[in-house]
Amino acid sequence: MESKNEKEMTTISFIFPVYNEEKGIVLFFKELSKELTNFPKNFSYQFICVDDGSSDDTFSLLKTIKKSNSNIEIIRFSRNFGKEMAIKAGFDYAKGDAVILMDCDLEDPIGLVLPMINKWQEGYDVVYTTRSSRNDTFVKRNTALAFYKVIKFLSKTPIFENSGDFRLFDKRVVNALLRLPERTRFSKGLFNWVGFRSTSISYERKVNKGRKTKWNYSKLWEYSLDGIISFSTIPVRIWTYIGFFCSFISLLYGGFIFFRVLTRGIDVPGYASLLIVMLFCNGLLLINLGVLGEYISRIFIEVKHRPLYIVDEHLKQEKEL
Ligand code: UDP
Ligand code: MG
Repeated sequence: MESKNEKEMTTISFIFPVYNEEKGIVLFFKELSKELTNFPKNFSYQFICVDDGSSDDTFSLLKTIKKSNSNIEIIRFSRNFGKEMAIKAGFDYAKGDAVILMDCDLEDPIGLVLPMINKWQEGYDVVYTTRSSRNDTFVKRNTALAFYKVIKFLSKTPIFENSGDFRLFDKRVVNALLRLPERTRFSKGLFNWVGFRSTSISYERKVNKGRKTKWNYSKLWEYSLDGIISFSTIPVRIWTYIGFFCSFISLLYGGFIFFRVLTRGIDVPGYASLLIVMLFCNGLLLINLGVLGEYISRIFIEVKHRPLYIVDEHLKQEKEL
């Protein structure tokens, strides 16, 4: 495999979506900066912190950190737009030859950064990371498993299990990702949709016990629906088949009734079976409408063409790249 051109100076852009991380952010940047002292001499880096409308002290802490680190750029959203939008903003502003997307809650191991860069230099365009163990609760582990099974069945785009957003992307991949303008952004799918040569590094997930995840079940449910609907049209198409099946059964049953009336005369009892069939078909129709509605509401969001995020403040890094 061809290795990346050895350029005079290589820049790595780090993207950090940050939302209410006042507890750990200072420690995170301290640890990361320590790790980066091992950076090869011909490497420079840029930290793009996208403050996703934090309501705690995160923004002022970031500004303080920026005073002692000239490589930090801060983009502050006007409100909380969600991690996916923070990632998009990071890609929009990144200028490096490669981009590393990373959470800043110390759950993504900092020690993997250099091995990821090594893999990139070997010639891979995407280096993703996979967690060798999930420290989730029984319910969360199994609902996640069910989600991956469903999406694997429904979508042609591979979506990796146990793989988060902690990834490295070559500039070419970033440019490809920037060409995807959709508003419903299911990054896990989009990252794989663009393709390119990729490899993975596996690691043991360390859970930051002092910190609660920002994903509750209703958010996870929404995220799963977004994922399935953005990457599959089977949920709509399946209703055509269900419709055909029901019509076929109705035809058979209709023929049977017709024949019975002809041979035995009009049969009045039948209230129960009539009601069951009616209720069942109405239920099917309502589910069908619901599924259609999910797609239509997303089309509605897309056609409004609202900006994906609004920037309140942009504090550029001192050293221009
Ligand atoms: N995050 C964000 N916007 C949000 C929620 C989260 O930018 O609305 C950031 C958060 O600060 C963290 C990363 O996204 O850096 C992952 O969030 P979290 O740790 O809650 O998710 P988990 O690690 O449980 O997947
Ligand atoms: Mg986390």
